[in-house]
Amino acid sequence: MAQQGTLYIISSPSGAGKSSLLNALLTQHNAAGKMQLSVSHTTRATRPGEEHGVHYHFVPVEEFKALIERGDFLEWAEVFGNYYGTSRAAIEACLAKGIDVFLDIDWQGARQIREQMPTKSIFILPPSREELERRLIGRGQDSSEVIAGRMAKAIAEMVHYDEYDYVIINEDFEQALFQLRSIIECQRLEMRHQQQAQKNLLQQLLAE
Ligand code: GDP
Ligand code: ADP
Ligand code: 5GP
Repeated sequence: MAQQGTLYIISSPSGAGKSSLLNALLTQHNAAGKMQLSVSHTTRATRPGEEHGVHYHFVPVEEFKALIERGDFLEWAEVFGNYYGTSRAAIEACLAKGIDVFLDIDWQGARQIREQMPTKSIFILPPSREELERRLIGRGQDSSEVIAGRMAKAIAEMVHYDEYDYVIINEDFEQALFQLRSIIECQRLEMRHQQQAQKNLLQQLLAE
């Protein structure tokens, strides 16, 4: 079956607000159930409040490597010394059902996926370096060493912003959320999507 849902890739330096934006999008604006977050596999330690199968599938390194061998991943990457990967089967099943799928992945993964299937990709930037650091500290989930590492990597991630289709500056949260929703809305109004979604209406309107 042809791909009907849109595959969205969302990247940003850690702490710029990807997870908060996607969380707000999916909890506040998904009444129709037409959007789904892809749950990645990772070898990193679980943070407080994170659940297996909800935030990530947390797996040991050996298991992750076995999944790579089996070709289960659409993409995988090593980020901050841990492995992260996106499994192929779940995404393809959702897209075929007309559900938009959101991938919260880094630029390396984004590149790998763009080569394999059509996507719309969005880069989230923080309003300043200082604010990025404040948010990483404020999130209160990583040690000061981990935060220092993520700040150091932030520029290396941000330099890839121009490989993406859209850029959102997450200064005011509600405005950034509105901009994210606007991109999705716009995509759904594209001709080929409307031709699918409005099939019956179009048939009635154009009948001889
Ligand atoms: P977690 O899910 O517990 O990790 O919390 P998040 O940091 O992802 O944020 C939880 C909720 O708070 C999200 O659904 C957002 O709607 C909201 N949120 C987070 N940051 C901001 C902010 O700066 N401004 C506003 N207005 N809401 C925020
Ligand atoms: P990421 O998923 O990109 O690593 P998070 O979504 O975890 O980032 O956001 C990092 C921290 O910044 C969280 O504590 C979140 O509540 C906060 N945050 C997100 N967006 C904003 C915003 N627009 N203004 C202030 N704080 C924000
Ligand atoms: P965190 O540990 O903060 O949840 O995520 C760290 C980084 O790994 C983020 O930049 C996130 O986008 C990236 N990431 C999460 N899941 C995947 C994945 O499946 N593949 C790739 N390539 N990157 C991922």
